[in-house]
Amino acid sequence: MSTAHLTINLHALASNWRALDAKTGVETAAVVKADAYGLGAEPVAWALAEEGVRKFFVAAAEEGAIVREAVGPDAMVAVFSGHMERDTDLLRNHRLTPLINSPEQFKRHTGALPGHPFGIQLDSGMNRLGLEPADWAELRYEALAMNPEVVMSHLACSDEPDHPMNKQQLLTFKQMTDGVKAPRSLAATGGILLGPEFHFDFCRPGIGLYGGMPFAAAKPVVTVDLPVIQTRRVDVGETVGYGNTWTARRPSRIATVAAGYADGLHRAIGGGIDAFAGDQPCPVVGRISMDLITVDVTDLPYNPDRLRILNGHQTVDDLAEAAGTIGYEILTSMGSRYSRGYVE
Ligand SMILES: *Cc1c(COP(=O)(O)O)cnc(C)c1O
Repeated sequence: MSTAHLTINLHALASNWRALDAKTGVETAAVVKADAYGLGAEPVAWALAEEGVRKFFVAAAEEGAIVREAVGPDAMVAVFSGHMERDTDLLRNHRLTPLINSPEQFKRHTGALPGHPFGIQLDSGMNRLGLEPADWAELRYEALAMNPEVVMSHLACSDEPDHPMNKQQLLTFKQMTDGVKAPRSLAATGGILLGPEFHFDFCRPGIGLYGGMPFAAAKPVVTVDLPVIQTRRVDVGETVGYGNTWTARRPSRIATVAAGYADGLHRAIGGGIDAFAGDQPCPVVGRISMDLITVDVTDLPYNPDRLRILNGHQTVDDLAEAAGTIGYEILTSMGSRYSRGYVE
């Protein structure tokens, strides 16, 4: 087999959820948008529902339909993009809760699906999604009379605990939701770590569940194994890969593994990361190609038949740092070519 293999440890996932849940005195939901950050919305949502999660969040109604199948009829499955044109059938048929972002969406929703659940998303300063204070002031009375399932907003800088934006958004959210009886939510993973005043009635972590920063204590959830296609000897002075960026300084053995930037292992990663044979790190050398990566296995006493690029020693955030991005992007770019296995 020449495709990379992704192993998702659902025990570690559940353990991360419990650890985040234990950091607050309130309910903990789960964000499973973008196919559960690339790890498979169905098995991930199923495992979290087993763990007791009763509220799930996705980006689009199409994702919600998949999550509804996995979690059964009773959990809330809420959609960040709200009620878009042509969403009505999906929202109705899968009992999804759109998070209303604008007066237009409110009108569309109450017109198309009277009596159907909804939530409210407020803009507390991020200027990305949600009702602006003025629109909210106009809709508030009517909307609250219909008992929304949640009134929420999102923090722009929660991964920087000292950023003044956190307190500012907290204040704005409090002002906008003062006296609201519906369950309120402000915190994602970063917000949970900011402390109790950010927790309100429930929190909704994503990345922390999947083993990423800013939840430093997260257990790694994903391992990625790459099959070795070929191993060769390279003499002193010979080069490896596109652009001749790596030159052998000693007689070397180079293993070529089957994965590349088309599989989310960004070309920008360049050097500075390892591929592991068991616990033994072997440096990635030369440029990352579309489907291939070359690894210096000279210090291994044998030729490996696979190498692991993501594990407990080298996390999504290590890869992200090497690529100049964030763990979220590494996870969600893991391509469709990976075969996936789940540890239950
Ligand atoms: C993605 C997202 C979350 C989850 O954020 P994490 O940083 O992954 O915990 C929560 N709320 C909203 C609105 C989001 O877009």
